[in-house]
Amino acid sequence: AVVKRDSRPAAPVAPVKPSPAQAMVEVSSLGKQYDNHPVFHSLSLTVRQGEVVALLGPSGSGKSTLLRCINRLEDWDTGEVRISGQRVGFHADGSAMSMSEIARQRAYAGVGMVFQHFNLFGHLTALENVAGPLRWVHGMSAADAQHRAMELLDRVGLRHRAHALPRHLSGGQQQRVAIARALAPRPSVLLLDEPTSALDPEMVNEVLEVIRKLATEDGLTMIISTHQVRFAKEVADRVVFLSNGAVTEEGPAHEVLTRPRHPLTARFLSVMQ
Ligand code: ADP
Ligand code: MG
Repeated sequence: AVVKRDSRPAAPVAPVKPSPAQAMVEVSSLGKQYDNHPVFHSLSLTVRQGEVVALLGPSGSGKSTLLRCINRLEDWDTGEVRISGQRVGFHADGSAMSMSEIARQRAYAGVGMVFQHFNLFGHLTALENVAGPLRWVHGMSAADAQHRAMELLDRVGLRHRAHALPRHLSGGQQQRVAIARALAPRPSVLLLDEPTSALDPEMVNEVLEVIRKLATEDGLTMIISTHQVRFAKEVADRVVFLSNGAVTEEGPAHEVLTRPRHPLTARFLSVMQ
């Protein structure tokens, strides 16, 4: 028989705040394939609170897939993912969650995500893109949601564009709205999937500047997949280099990016810089 658990009371709005030493994101022995195409064999990665990790690797190495698995937008075959100690997609008793329970867990476990192509709601203003989910998903009152959304738009420098539709904003502005939307529910960890690679070159900096501020001033835990090597060197605490379905090299950003040990990392960096 199918056990329905959706009638249980909704989880509290505020995400659980882990202790500083606790691992924020733990990916353990993750195995994943699409049809018969393997992406990861046994991938493990731990990110601690306040850490900024840059995820580097050639196109097709699985950066997006890894970030989507962490957020359980994508299923996997073996291994597990934990956010603040909570196993993603499973109840404490080990039983699998339903899709709606997973959606609720995603919202309340405090994971925010920013996508390469912004993924804003095209028919909603910048303000509504940020405020809407706070009402629909987090049950915030309209007034509180609007206030919080304005605060976030202000933080990304877009208060003056609050009432504009996405198509009337530049790519850089749209991505800043997407960042504001991801931050609005106060996530414990923010995943950014190549946040600047769909932007015209002159708009890259305004987005990187916002991300840089989040890393340095707010101490937010972040995993950023990026091809911006110089940015990674400057902002990331740690670099994780993916290739051939595994982490081939990881370490302090400055070390890995200036003195790569693995030939694949070295080759990638020589092309990118
Ligand atoms: P990256 O983000 O590093 O470019 P991806 O995670 O997008 O890598 O892709 C990893 C591999 O999985 C690639 O070989 C890609 O073609 C494949 N892949 C990604 N998404 C899908 C999908 N939805 N269906 C089938 N194959 C996919
Ligand atoms: Mg990708």
